[in-house]
Amino acid sequence: MTLLDSWTRSRRSVTGPTFEKEHRVCAAVLTEPNTDLQLVDRKAPAPGPGEVVIRVRACGICHSDVALQGGTTRFASFPRVPGHEVA
Ligand SMILES: [Zn+2]
Repeated sequence: MTLLDSWTRSRRSVTGPTFEKEHRVCAAVLTEPNTDLQLVDRKAPAPGPGEVVIRVRACGICHSDVALQGGTTRFASFPRVPGHEVA
């Protein structure tokens, strides 16, 4: 079983003031250019005023993400979690 499988099976809905204590995410982290993404279990960032949290089941990869991984994005900082093509 992968980290993603175990993470998906153990999730439950979290609302209200318990969010910061209990909510975790499975993040695909790029630690530096020209490396593979690493699946990492981490605490979810808390939503700020006027923000909402959505559950993401899939995320596409676009040219910007490929450029990040390939090291051709000049001002990128690492580690980072690429992916803004939420499905
Ligand atoms: Zn994009």
